[in-house]
Amino acid sequence: MKTAVFPGSFNPFTIGHKDIADRALRIFDRLVIGVGYNVMKQDNASADKRVAAIAALYAGNDKVKVESYSGLTVEFARRHGARYIVRGLREVKDFEYERNLADTNSVISDIETVFLVARPELGFISSSMVRELIANGYDADRFLPK
Ligand code: ADP
Repeated sequence: MKTAVFPGSFNPFTIGHKDIADRALRIFDRLVIGVGYNVMKQDNASADKRVAAIAALYAGNDKVKVESYSGLTVEFARRHGARYIVRGLREVKDFEYERNLADTNSVISDIETVFLVARPELGFISSSMVRELIANGYDADRFLPK
C-alpha cells in the first residue's frame, strides 16, 4: 500500500492543485492532502474551511483524506505512514524552491519527494492570482474545481 501526502497552503485549492492530486491518485494507493499553515503567505480563509472545501471534492473517495497540519511535512507524512511527498512544478522558480525543500526533507528523513509537472494549460494558475482576482471583484470560478 503506497501512501503519499500532497502538502500545500491551498489558499484556495485551484484546478491546478486538483489536477496534481488526481494524477497522484493514479500512482499511489492513498493520498493525504495536507493543508499546511505557511507563515510566509497570507492566510485568508481558515485552514478548516479549506479542508472542508477540498474534502467535499473527494466525498465518497476513500483513497483520499484531507487534514490540516502545522509543523514539518515529513512528520505529517510519518503520522500517516506515507513515504512519499507529492509536489507540483510549474516553472523554474518552483523548481528552485522545491529542490530546497526536497533536499532538506531527504537529509532529515527517508521520505521521497515526487514531482509532477503542471499540465501546460494549468501551469499559469496560482492561488495568489485567484485571490487577487477575487479581491478585485472578478469571478475566479473558472480556476476553481466545481
Ligand atoms: P505552498 O504554500 O506549499 O507552496 P501551494 O498551495 O501554493 O502551497 O502549492 C502546493 C503545491 O501545488 C506546490 O507544489 C505547487 O508548486 C503546486 N501547484 C500550485 N499551483 C499549481 C498548478 N497550477 N499546477 C501544478 N501544480 C501547482
